[in-house]
Amino acid sequence: MSVTQQQVLDSLARVKSPRGVALTNANVLSAISASDGKVFFSINVDAAEARAWESIRAEAEAAVRAIPGVTTVMVALTAERKPGSAPPPPPQPSRGTPGVQPVHAHKPPPQGGAQSPMARQSEIPGVAAVIAVASGKGGVGKSTTALNLALGLRDLGLKVGLLDADIYGPSVPRLTGLHDKPELNDERKMIPLRRFGLAIMSIGFLVEEETAMIWRGPMVMSAVTQMLRDVEWGTLDVLVVDMPPGTGDAQLTLAQNVPLKGAVIVSTPQDLSLIDARRGLAMFKKVNVPVLGIVENMSYFQCPHCGTRSDIFGHGGARHEAEKLDVPFLGEIPLHMAIRATSDAGNPVVDSEPDGPHAAIYRAIAGQVRDQLKGVSAPA
Ligand code: ADP
Repeated sequence: MSVTQQQVLDSLARVKSPRGVALTNANVLSAISASDGKVFFSINVDAAEARAWESIRAEAEAAVRAIPGVTTVMVALTAERKPGSAPPPPPQPSRGTPGVQPVHAHKPPPQGGAQSPMARQSEIPGVAAVIAVASGKGGVGKSTTALNLALGLRDLGLKVGLLDADIYGPSVPRLTGLHDKPELNDERKMIPLRRFGLAIMSIGFLVEEETAMIWRGPMVMSAVTQMLRDVEWGTLDVLVVDMPPGTGDAQLTLAQNVPLKGAVIVSTPQDLSLIDARRGLAMFKKVNVPVLGIVENMSYFQCPHCGTRSDIFGHGGARHEAEKLDVPFLGEIPLHMAIRATSDAGNPVVDSEPDGPHAAIYRAIAGQVRDQLKGVSAPA
């Protein structure tokens, strides 16, 4: 049974704002995405009023969930501080990103800035380490690297999850061939999908790719917070988070709020992308998240026929950059037809060609990441 936007609006008309106005007349609703029983929208309020809205968010979610045919609901509460308005009340102080205030966390998020990443670690029950895979710009192979790195970590015997937080273009459904929608457990937490031995969650399982594209910064944070905490991840050694590309406000807020133990930066050898990678490094430094290392993707061209290597973009840029910046260099992944073809067919190369040379490269990178994580875990 399909659910229409009008049905959602009708049920929201019965929910009242803190001032007693129907939600549909309160001028706070984003566009509503309703397809295949999956409903997503956000309530956008002034940060000064955010606390009063949290219970309304829950009411709105419950009202929509009660519509016959609705299988998944995600209502994000986002708050932006209006210029000149008073800062929101404690204990949810400003996080250092001007004008942006993520509010839908189950407990007050940790302080950014001087916050030690160690203090943020235990925030997702059962998950020992959360790591980000980030890039300064899109199209460098970040998602491909994130998935194959997750599989490499799996091959090392670790229990691994993958969270696709690339809200502007969630590609994990395509890379994994998964398109089902997650079910809810008795506690109404989403159960991640499973493939290749990984627990996998993507915003792409919940909304159409086009809907995700139009989200603004605070909505991104809210949705990602929900995917971190309202998902039954189970026991994981590592949760790999595929970050949205870039180093803007949305990315910074994410890096600040997700309990990251470390970050892996993916870059291509071209100069421009290295400049972007440097911005990525600076961003994680700013929020005290250790950079576990740089991966150079599409490092050299490997001919699928004769195996000859051509350094068409020059060579060694990322390694050199990593040395200069005193960041570990994790490895070089060739530009190879097999990586593209397997990725885009939903059969990542580490899983589909486990004995091949590419799988070996990703596993070696995974080994270094695991070792780096051990280093981060060591008592100060
Ligand atoms: P991003 O997440 O940075 O936007 P993707 O992982 O989606 O990038 O990759 C972009 C495109 O490049 C995809 O078609 C993917 O299959 C391809 N790709 C990524 N890495 C490689 C590689 N090492 N060799 C060949 N193709 C690659």
